[in-house]
Amino acid sequence: MPVKNEICTKMNQYQSLRLKPGKERSLQRLHPWVFSGALAMDIKQIPEGELVNITDINGAFIATGYVQHGSIAVRVLAFEKTSIDTDFWIRTLEKSFALRRMLGLTGNPLTNCYRLVHGEGDGVPGLIIDIYAGTAVIQCHTSGIYLHLPAICEALKHVLGQGLKAVYDKSSETLHGAVPGASNGLIYGQADENVVSENGMKFRVDWETGQKTGFFLDQRDNRQLLGQYSKGKTVLNTFAYTGGFSVYALMNGARQVDSVDVSKNAIQLLNENMALNDASATNHRGEAADTFSFFKHTDQTYDIVILDPPAFAKSVNARHNALMGYKRLAAEGLKKVGKGGLLFTFSCSQVVDSHTFNQTMLAAAIETGRPAKILHRLTQPADHPVNIFHPEGEYLKGLVLYVE
Ligand code: SAH
Repeated sequence: MPVKNEICTKMNQYQSLRLKPGKERSLQRLHPWVFSGALAMDIKQIPEGELVNITDINGAFIATGYVQHGSIAVRVLAFEKTSIDTDFWIRTLEKSFALRRMLGLTGNPLTNCYRLVHGEGDGVPGLIIDIYAGTAVIQCHTSGIYLHLPAICEALKHVLGQGLKAVYDKSSETLHGAVPGASNGLIYGQADENVVSENGMKFRVDWETGQKTGFFLDQRDNRQLLGQYSKGKTVLNTFAYTGGFSVYALMNGARQVDSVDVSKNAIQLLNENMALNDASATNHRGEAADTFSFFKHTDQTYDIVILDPPAFAKSVNARHNALMGYKRLAAEGLKKVGKGGLLFTFSCSQVVDSHTFNQTMLAAAIETGRPAKILHRLTQPADHPVNIFHPEGEYLKGLVLYVE
């Protein structure tokens, strides 16, 4: 019987890429990125997307990954020597699916939408797969992952079986032009159902023209928490998108909900979502407006104010300005919270860590002179797991402040 390593060695013939001496340490701690400066050669000599075996300076195998021409030069797909083929994708998706099953998200009539694959959190940098009532919506963030789309689609059929109705590829935006001609579209099946359930509430998800994969699944637990506080309350939901927080508030007995989003399409879908849940139109108002101008033009205060803006910073260079933006927004939001009310405040910028976010909220409280207590520290739900070796994956931060 050959030993395991011999079997594996035959399985993959990818080109080897050597690291500079000492640069193997972060990979040995299972961090899945190789920065270009760690490599003993210029990454541009290898075509983007190509699979490579990373070795230490002596040629000893460390990991298999794919190349990208950027500061992150290789993203790791496996720390053992294996071929990245349909079997690999089946094994990978089986693991992700087993985790979602353990979380109670599969075969659950109350919640039939969830994230099946969350990039590094599921060991697959660059790949997002969200499931909406049997339709898998895929976003490839790199050309390296996009090359595997047909195999990923096959693996999805294998792993989800009858549960998979359709696969929609929504990678054209997230590839940022890295694959010329890549366009969004259905790559398998027929997607005839786009109304999903989340904790028993209904939402129509427009994955074709909506943001990201169509819906912000990452706020599921936080929407539920808001629901618990909503009975009899007045609620202002800013950056409301298609009304996730608004529906939870109304369905949990809020007295009045105002939703604000700059996108007219989002407000239109938000109103449809209200109707889908038979939420009364008389105590909800949706307004297509910029949040800051809405704040300027209203004197009303609310029992609960929600601030869930898009990422203000996409890179470390943009972080300072983003923090100023979060502070200004929180300060304006705090002014709209009545005495004894709550502020739900979030940041989904990966480059803003939770300590910095909390400090920024502190600065806003000081500026407005509103004493506040932290009741909850919020983050992303369990189907958006954080690989412990890749702390950068913890992107969603939130606080619930009790405002005196
Ligand atoms: N809370 C939402 C997700 C928010 S996504 C949910 O649970 O589903 C961020 C939203 O902010 C997007 O819908 C975008 O259209 C909106 N947006 C961006 N800039 C804005 C601005 N200046 N004022 C109001 N809305 C804005």
